[in-house]
Amino acid sequence: MDYISTRGTAPTLTFKETLLVGLAEDGGLYVPREWPHFSAEKIRSFKGMDYCEVAFHVIKAFVDGEIEDAALRDMINEAYATFHHPAVVPLVQTGANNWILEVIYGPTLAFKDVAMQILARLMDHILTEQGRRITIVGATSGDTGGAALEAFQACEGIDTFFMFPEGKVSDVQRKQMTTIGAANAHAIAIDGSFDDCQNMVKDMFNDAEFRDGVHLSAVNSINWGRVMAQTVYYFTAAVALGAPDRAVAFTVPTGNFGDIFAGFVAKQMGLGIDRLVIATNENDILSRALSTGNYTLSDVEVTITPSMDIQISSNFERLLFEAAGRDPQIVRELMAELKVNGSYVLPDRVRQYIADLFASGTANQAQTLETMEQVYARSGYLADPHTAVAIRVAEQQTSRAVPMVTLATAHPAKFPDAVERATGQLVEVPQWAVQRASNAEVLNVLENDLVTVKKFIMEKSRIGSGRTDG
Ligand SMILES: *Cc1c(COP(=O)(O)O)cnc(C)c1O
Repeated sequence: MDYISTRGTAPTLTFKETLLVGLAEDGGLYVPREWPHFSAEKIRSFKGMDYCEVAFHVIKAFVDGEIEDAALRDMINEAYATFHHPAVVPLVQTGANNWILEVIYGPTLAFKDVAMQILARLMDHILTEQGRRITIVGATSGDTGGAALEAFQACEGIDTFFMFPEGKVSDVQRKQMTTIGAANAHAIAIDGSFDDCQNMVKDMFNDAEFRDGVHLSAVNSINWGRVMAQTVYYFTAAVALGAPDRAVAFTVPTGNFGDIFAGFVAKQMGLGIDRLVIATNENDILSRALSTGNYTLSDVEVTITPSMDIQISSNFERLLFEAAGRDPQIVRELMAELKVNGSYVLPDRVRQYIADLFASGTANQAQTLETMEQVYARSGYLADPHTAVAIRVAEQQTSRAVPMVTLATAHPAKFPDAVERATGQLVEVPQWAVQRASNAEVLNVLENDLVTVKKFIMEKSRIGSGRTDG
């Protein structure tokens, strides 16, 4: 299967190449040239199958023969053996027609583990086969960095660097990044916002000398492999609730638009999804874009749901590309406008396409805390704040007779302060999650300055520094 860029001028790549490059060199994001399609019969066959088997079918459709089935199966089985639940991603009923899809049982307690655990194995497999090394650089609002550093530490040919906004991630999140104790895992605190970190990553990709100097790669949600891996649980959840013979709706706490875009991909592949509901916190640019047609950047507001404190939703570009009839010219124009003016107006046709499938809603901090309290009082369920944003928004959406699945994206133990504030309950990091209480924290605090960060990465990466021995 070929992969093409949403901006139309980067080279067409194979699956393997797409995973290794992350971001396209024209600044766009890679997508498959066409969507694989599953018949209703094939989707029906997923009933009663275990998670890894469904994952194999879904991922195989994108790998398209570039990796042998047996090797692919092994990697998938190993990746999800790190999860602390026999269902991997269990579905919990919380109301007559409401379910919570708990994507929280991975080693770092957030849904990011679903993608990182398989992506690390796939990338390691490809690099070993080709005798190559890379340097991964990423930006994280909290959960991606921990999941990536955790998953990639075992990869011989990969050095991983993650930048996060200093002081704006939870203690549990920070420690997951700073206590790994592996020579190839680097956590960098930046004196700035998540968007500053993300922009530096983009600038590094646009700098050919640096990019080639360290064999730069990305595993942020712009990496196609992330979206691909997340598509799996839309299938398992929908099938458990009656797909392909019944449509299902999903509400997803959204930041970078990767998770909810995976739902869109499942829909493109033939899964009967009635609606995808975008749930946002005060940083409601996506909600505003959908209701007004104006995508207008404003300042990032810091909230109790840091993984959603994002203004530039990278993966939204993939949806724009589809909504624009896969015309890269339109995407290029909108992205150029965003860069120059900090805003763009969605063309009517594009807006209509999105409105036909997506809905959106916002929960502010007070509403989020209130929802956490109510959900706990009603059912004893402890929701993390991100999940609570989505539960609140889903509540406004369950008018139709369609089962509503809300994604729980983090374990409550990852955000214990908010949980205690809302419910009075103290939650501790569970025994099975990664805990390295005895490891000292190793944190590199750097200025919000591209040159400084590039220099640091050059010196610390084995490729950039010429230390390719070990
Ligand atoms: C990353 C994250 C999100 C946002 O997901 P996107 O794919 O960026 O939209 C929501 N909740 C939690 C807990 C996260 O870690």
